[in-house]
Amino acid sequence: MKKERSRKHRALRALRILSQAGFFGLFLWLFFSAHFAGQDYIGNVEIFFHFDPLIAAAVAIAARTLLAAFAWAAVTLLVTVLFGRVVCGWVCPLGTVHQAASWLFRVTKLRRPRKPAEGGLAWKYLVLAFVLVSAVFTLDLLGYFDPLTFLTRTLATSTVPAFAQGAQMAIGGAYGAGLGSVGDKLTQVIETMTLNATFRGGFFIGLVFLAFLLLNAWRERFWCRYLCPTGAFLGLASRFNLFKLKVDEQKCIKCNLCSIHCQTQAKPFPIGEWKSSECVYCETCAAICPTKAITFPTRFKPERTPAVDLTKRKLLLASALAFFSVPFFRITQARKRASEKLLRPPGALPEPEFLAKCVKCGECMKACPTNALQPALSEAGPEGLWTPVLVPKIGYCEYYCSLCSQVCPTGAIKELTIPEKTQVKIGTAWINKNRCLPYFLGRPCIVCEEHCPTSPKAIKFIEYESKRPDGTTLIQKAPVIDLEMCIGCGICENKCPVMDDPAIYVTSVGEQRSKENRLLLDI
Ligand code: SF4
Ligand code: SF4
Repeated sequence: MKKERSRKHRALRALRILSQAGFFGLFLWLFFSAHFAGQDYIGNVEIFFHFDPLIAAAVAIAARTLLAAFAWAAVTLLVTVLFGRVVCGWVCPLGTVHQAASWLFRVTKLRRPRKPAEGGLAWKYLVLAFVLVSAVFTLDLLGYFDPLTFLTRTLATSTVPAFAQGAQMAIGGAYGAGLGSVGDKLTQVIETMTLNATFRGGFFIGLVFLAFLLLNAWRERFWCRYLCPTGAFLGLASRFNLFKLKVDEQKCIKCNLCSIHCQTQAKPFPIGEWKSSECVYCETCAAICPTKAITFPTRFKPERTPAVDLTKRKLLLASALAFFSVPFFRITQARKRASEKLLRPPGALPEPEFLAKCVKCGECMKACPTNALQPALSEAGPEGLWTPVLVPKIGYCEYYCSLCSQVCPTGAIKELTIPEKTQVKIGTAWINKNRCLPYFLGRPCIVCEEHCPTSPKAIKFIEYESKRPDGTTLIQKAPVIDLEMCIGCGICENKCPVMDDPAIYVTSVGEQRSKENRLLLDI
């Protein structure tokens, strides 16, 4: 009997690890598929997000709209209502990362088994309340905390670019060591998958992630236990599920091993204190119990289990904090006057709707083939931190590309066809005559005009009499912008040969999505 049971738990553990590895692999596969592959089609690489019921709820509340794509989230909810938080224990990719980190800290003895922690579980419910109450006031903060957006953003803007940098170094080493074919292969992979991107703020985004990983050295699955609002949301949905932990009182020797090794502080022991809303159904407790006293029988009659110590007072406090912090997130000069650097991707909704829908996942930044989309720093104020902005100095908007509009899981960037996209004006180009070579130095240059993709071109030439540094004058062809034709793609700024601060630059004025950000005089 004993042997059978341990075999059962070994099989269960193997199954769980297989499930976690499988879903993590699927997540990575979709993530790495979000790149330009020779055509303007990218597939459903954002599908994982559509199974996330908290993103569905927060975006629905903040944007006052129900998105059909999130119908899949009902599957996750149904599974949770019936079987508990199995999604956290068997599916969630961020949960898998934290569990792997926890395992690493355990086997390296950096974290030793200690007596079960008490308290702290309420924090994630407070984070959930904070996020949902903020959403009521159209402030979408979920993207900073949701496990899928947190992981995708970190991979896209920090981990992958760091690996690509490392790979570049390895390629240099391979060529140096005479292994040219290895270097060629690696270069080809990086180029085909457009991995050689770099992102502003990527270091800090990676640092935040690393800090949470390190906290697993203190408590196993720290993030899942104490902070994950999605875990809290699923915990609430799982309270009456069909599988309830049962401890056989005759067999229990009160060793407390089950609670010491519980991944999420669900407290299988003392008997009667197990919290179904915290359990992720890893069954570590059942496997570790020396007398095999723990089982998870099916009970078709829903029953209550002890809840997390969450007083109404704490919930009210978190809600009040959210209410009072909303205006602070909106302290930005961009509310008075449009920010010239706030260039949004083509198809981005008007700013308030965009901010209500964007979950800062970074999918659009990952997909952009020219690395033009970058995490916003201060351009959109605190509310818009890490939302996508186009930075022409780094990359430009490719004329025949609409990938960012295809991958956005929440519709913050409206899906566009190529004919629609080529008509969208995201900003306007300006010439700095104090830096432009024909104007300032009397040198011939037609780079911006050559690259301009519109038809007819938005950059035209006039004859300009310029003074050269030696005092002579000469007539030179110099660029001027046709404001009607310019769509603000930024390729002129990107290709301008004046490297540090290009002589032609794009600002957001005239952007199609805004009625206010315009040239107010007739031109
Ligand atoms: S910003 Fe332009 S180039 Fe980048 S993904 Fe979007 S449409 Fe494509
Ligand atoms: S706009 Fe970009 S960062 Fe924002 S939700 Fe869409 S894909 Fe994610």
